[in-house]
Amino acid sequence: MKQKITVLGSTGSIGTNTLDVLARHRDRYEVFALSAATQVDLMLHQCAEFRPVYAVMASAAHARELADKLRDNGIGTEVLQADDALQQIASHPEVDAVMAAIVGAAGLAPCMAAARAGKRLLLANKEALVVGGALFMDTVRRHGATLLPIDSEHSAIFQCLPEDRTSWPQRVDSLLLTASGGPFRQRDPSTLSQITPEQACAHPNFSMGRKISVDSATMMNKALEVIEARWLFDMAPDRIQVVIHPQQIVHSMVQFKDSSVLAQLGTPDMRVPIACGLAWPQRIASGAAPLDFARLAALTFEEADAVRFPGLHLSWQALRASEGTTAVLNASNEIAVSAFLDRRLAFDRIHAVNLRTLEAVSPPTLGSLDDLLALDAQARAVAREVAGQWSL
Ligand code: NDP
Repeated sequence: MKQKITVLGSTGSIGTNTLDVLARHRDRYEVFALSAATQVDLMLHQCAEFRPVYAVMASAAHARELADKLRDNGIGTEVLQADDALQQIASHPEVDAVMAAIVGAAGLAPCMAAARAGKRLLLANKEALVVGGALFMDTVRRHGATLLPIDSEHSAIFQCLPEDRTSWPQRVDSLLLTASGGPFRQRDPSTLSQITPEQACAHPNFSMGRKISVDSATMMNKALEVIEARWLFDMAPDRIQVVIHPQQIVHSMVQFKDSSVLAQLGTPDMRVPIACGLAWPQRIASGAAPLDFARLAALTFEEADAVRFPGLHLSWQALRASEGTTAVLNASNEIAVSAFLDRRLAFDRIHAVNLRTLEAVSPPTLGSLDDLLALDAQARAVAREVAGQWSL
């Protein structure tokens, strides 16, 4: 029996890489549903190729446009338009696995729906876990869902950790997340205010969505990954470290109690962790080139510069603060990055907006997804106001 897959965010960088891997294994997988926000023509093309049962667009206008084009092209995919359409395709009884590749907190509700339905959930959408935190993990546990990391660092750690989770506290000392350092690793920090969106999105090793590209340039991406690792692996924040590794060959490492370190290596190509998550515990071809050790230059490691990357340390601060603080940090960062990409905010103000918003918003007690979404909305409103004060 083929496994039926829903791909949330199928038109993005992770989404298209996922479809590339799925297309290599049509005997194992079939696409059940796809979702996107704005790219109607790419979605049309994907529907023509993969013939999903359902497609979802983020707005009614885009959904109508897609439905018209599907009809004109004789493609039978049904466009779902309900408010909870993403939740429906993430939790549909016929679905075996869900690739969560929407960017930002917009992916939280469908991730929670997939978790409640006990699905195999392939998580690229780190913001969903940063916002959802304990509630997200509790939902996964209570409903017997399987959560598999797609972020290359977390996939690496997952592969290095012993299979028996209960043995981690006795065996594992710490997690070492590697970071490329992004495009500004060596740039004079006094010039950070002049950085343009084009420069920030030019990542040295990966072609990624614009939001994660900016997060990589500020190292807020690594901050979000520290929070993600805390929840995925139930690890105390002070046992998670970050080390700069510009070549991105070592994807991350686990240090054990005896000081032995296990690392996972591979070419920097997201199809590797995607294939790993799709097939785990089996292995399937990803389409990525194998590592050629004869051609590898030096692998280097260095400490992250706290002056150049002040946002990185917000992860540990937010994790030590009250529950919900990581959701505030994520919401603020989404607003600040979007303002930067729209040329309304200077690059070095992204951190300033995050700091101010964290100071201004005190999370209430959180018991439900609705509480989290309300906190997310409140933090966004504050961040918008703060960013507006520094508008270019
Ligand atoms: P992209 O911006 O390339 O793609 C995002 C996808 O989500 C697109 O399909 C987009 O639709 C859709 N989308 C955007 N906003 C909404 C919304 N409000 N509601 C519903 N759908 C929406 O992002 P990436 O693929 O780069 O990243 C996706 C996630 O994976 C992020 O959380 C990122 O941190 C994580 N990740 C990405 C990596 C990478 O290499 N790219 C590596 C590791 C993790 P459309 O394009 O049609 O507008």
